[in-house]
Amino acid sequence: MHPLERIVQMARELNDEIISWRRDFHMHPELGYHERRTAGIVAENLRKWGYRVITGVAETGVIGVLRGAEGDKTIALRADMDALPLNEENDVPYRSKVKGVMHACGHDAHVAMLLGAAKILAKIKDELKGNVKLIFQPAEEGGNGAERMIKEGALDDPKVDMIYGLHVWSQIESGRIGIKEGPLLAATGSFSIEVYGKGGHGAYPHQAVDPIVVASSIVVALQSIVSRNVDPIDSAVVSVCTFRAGKAFNVIPDKAFMAGTYRALRKETLNLVVRRIREIADHISRAYGATCDVQTRDITPPTINHPEATKIAKEVAMNIVGEGNILIPSVSMGGEDFAFYLERVPGAFILLGTGNSEKGTMNPHHSPHFDVDEDVLYIGSALYAGLAHAYLTT
Ligand SMILES: [Zn+2]
Ligand SMILES: [Zn+2]
Repeated sequence: MHPLERIVQMARELNDEIISWRRDFHMHPELGYHERRTAGIVAENLRKWGYRVITGVAETGVIGVLRGAEGDKTIALRADMDALPLNEENDVPYRSKVKGVMHACGHDAHVAMLLGAAKILAKIKDELKGNVKLIFQPAEEGGNGAERMIKEGALDDPKVDMIYGLHVWSQIESGRIGIKEGPLLAATGSFSIEVYGKGGHGAYPHQAVDPIVVASSIVVALQSIVSRNVDPIDSAVVSVCTFRAGKAFNVIPDKAFMAGTYRALRKETLNLVVRRIREIADHISRAYGATCDVQTRDITPPTINHPEATKIAKEVAMNIVGEGNILIPSVSMGGEDFAFYLERVPGAFILLGTGNSEKGTMNPHHSPHFDVDEDVLYIGSALYAGLAHAYLTT
């Protein structure tokens, strides 16, 4: 039997256990850097299966190391553990028991799938020529847990040579696997602009400097960054998502506030966008006799899959789900902190389709109706384990 066939079979046998882990995490979601219960369950299982376990990395992160028979190559497999601050609206038996917190991105499934892989790998460790390092990280959703895990040594001792991450994807048909070389997700950042004018009576605008007019002009001008400054072949986005000013219908306020997100597929483009946001806000404010304070914060780098790692992933995935079920996903302007690992170590971020229209699991990520098709989670476990096996047997 082909080793991957055996791994798939082992994963299938774990199907019920993977689903019950997922449901347990789903019912007990925890926000970024608060994943104590989840981390506890992860650590307990890894210890039971013979992993060397380090806890408390980046607050709640867990690292499990499995030493193979020989060799000193190390492959890392990563799962994120955090949930999101929203109320679940699904009427399912495993609905979130925590009001206002929900696993609406599928990270509960990631933890369950990686636990499944951990159990499989522990059973076949004598075949592995090298080490497997499992990275269960906190706070992917805006908390840059990956960056902190790296700072606290997640990629050292043993030094990681290759890394893979997996994300369930509701926009891909259930059971299919999306793999793409090169850019997959955007570099992301956030900005805020506060415009300072001069308040006054709504009837006497000539005595005031109206920050609402200034800020509105800035909002409009920001739209020209993507359309006029960025190469049309390249990709970027600037969205103002918050706008606040004033309290009364007849009072011109003295300041206006806006905040939003900027994204691009290339770092150079991201830098250009940031420079233009600052220039536009500054110059427009000055043109109107106002001043402003601009804050920008780069969040994640772009997620760029390495060619060699992508090639290995494609081969392994093909042997698990068949060539016809492999697809090249379209690039998205969403962001992922897995990008921090890929900046330092070769690897790839892979998408596992969990969208099934009959089961109603096609709702977008971060929606209160988000859910995954649990019947394909064993594929994720097989993929994680298969990647480690492939990398450590050649
Ligand atoms: Zn998310
Ligand atoms: Zn996510």
